[in-house]
Amino acid sequence: MGQKIIRLSEGVINKIAAGEVIENPASIVKEMVENSLDAGARRIAVSIMGGGQKLIEVEDDGCGMSEVDARLCFERHATSKIREAEDLHSLVTMGFRGEALAAIAAVSQFELKTSEKEVGVCVKGEGGRILSVSPCARNRGTTFSVRSLFFNTPARKKFQKSPATDTAQVTKTLEMIALAHPEVEFILTVQCKAALHFPVQTQEKRIAAVAGPFAHSLAGERLSGALSSPGEARPQRRGQFLFVNKRPIFSPLVAKAVQMGYGTRLPANHYPPFVLFLRVDPAVVDVNVHPQKKEVRFSEESSLFREVEQAVASVFETPSFPQALAPFSFDPPPIFSLAEEAPSHSIAFADMTLPLEIEARMIAALDHYAIVEKGGLFLVDLAKAHARILVEDLGEGSKERQTLMWPLEVESEAPEEEALALQKLGIECRALGEKLLAVDALPSSLEPALFPQFFAAWQSGKRVDTAVMNYCRGLKKRYSLEEAHLLWRRLQKCRDRVYDPLGRQIAVEIQRDDLEKIMEKR
Ligand code: ADP
Ligand code: MG
Repeated sequence: MGQKIIRLSEGVINKIAAGEVIENPASIVKEMVENSLDAGARRIAVSIMGGGQKLIEVEDDGCGMSEVDARLCFERHATSKIREAEDLHSLVTMGFRGEALAAIAAVSQFELKTSEKEVGVCVKGEGGRILSVSPCARNRGTTFSVRSLFFNTPARKKFQKSPATDTAQVTKTLEMIALAHPEVEFILTVQCKAALHFPVQTQEKRIAAVAGPFAHSLAGERLSGALSSPGEARPQRRGQFLFVNKRPIFSPLVAKAVQMGYGTRLPANHYPPFVLFLRVDPAVVDVNVHPQKKEVRFSEESSLFREVEQAVASVFETPSFPQALAPFSFDPPPIFSLAEEAPSHSIAFADMTLPLEIEARMIAALDHYAIVEKGGLFLVDLAKAHARILVEDLGEGSKERQTLMWPLEVESEAPEEEALALQKLGIECRALGEKLLAVDALPSSLEPALFPQFFAAWQSGKRVDTAVMNYCRGLKKRYSLEEAHLLWRRLQKCRDRVYDPLGRQIAVEIQRDDLEKIMEKR
């Protein structure tokens, strides 16, 4: 028998490898942009035509390549990033296999223009072969163009998606990378039209620009980023972004730890959107588990888990704003009553003369909003604050009760049953015949005159949090400045001073930007 086994040519190997590294235009953009980042670029401009199948061009102002390297970089396992297998453990750069360019070049017509200083070199080729090398004009940096993707692999070309789908994926890919690199300017052009532009900005601003505004930020050494409020949690995991050493990573472990950090604030089967950046010693992560580097393995999983969980939990335990406010030195009226009709004027101007000696200043109350000053300005939703206080007051163990002089009577279809349920909320009551419920004592923050409204809200859902919220909203009350003070002080005694019973923020900081936006619209 003759020889059956042959050694595959380098070109064939590259084509096969291309299948693993490069699935579509988005994966090419990812590899090329990561190369630009590794080259220290401060500005990266990506341009695509036909979803990237016609053209992908990535231009950067990174370190560029010498002529020798510009020829070498298309060879498989040609890399400037590792020298020895051990180097894999101290990896800080994005790429490391020296496979991407070889694979991309194997299935396209490519052109590379690169320069370390003024004089550049232009390398052209197709199907993995270099066809020409010539000098060219180029500032420091690299421009890499890829045309006619998969022109020589018809089977793969057939399985490509529509240009619209590819464009969407390229956009998403670039957004993900941009999220982790606010210190770099990113530009995306689609069919010669500007599609994305992120200037150099702070991490916080970049997160907002890419993923939208978030209620909380985390600024630890190892863990930083942004967390949504529990109220914004969704039934799917969309919107959860994790980066480990700036690489986008899918880690069920970390996602779970974040979830635990929110604790019981989250409704069941809801997942909070977040953008988190974890910085760990490269020696404790194994980025080599997945060819596309989307998953990692951590060597000390349980301590990492606890660390993430605690960092997230601490965001909710030590709210930056409500806790920072010292109690008002202003002495409130002794009775906490919200039953009185609020003053007819909407803003309690008259009350501004009250002797407020001020650490934190309640500046104004407008309907159910108040403005508090402490370092910055905060807009407080008094109805939400009220609901938070009330929901914490409604509990079996709550001490502050007001015994009613005359029992309150409300109609009920099932008085026995409802009396039992209400007693669990600290409402002392009993069945009175078959259709009536008599209430003898209430938590002090529940106004007796308004109890029928609360009862109706509770009856419709039997859920305390929604009942309380509906009740407080339903009051449609204008709070006076004094009432705002009282609510504020009571809120400081709550276990959770940040969220209303439905997980929405009670107060938000008013930024100068916000004010300017409001004024600009006028
Ligand atoms: P890897 O990134 O894994 O090293 P690649 O095939 O992606 O492998 O790139 C091969 C080499 O080409 C890199 O190691 C780097 O030295 C060089 N290179 C690629 N892109 C750029 C770029 N935009 N700027 C400077 N050098 C680059
Ligand atoms: Mg690379």
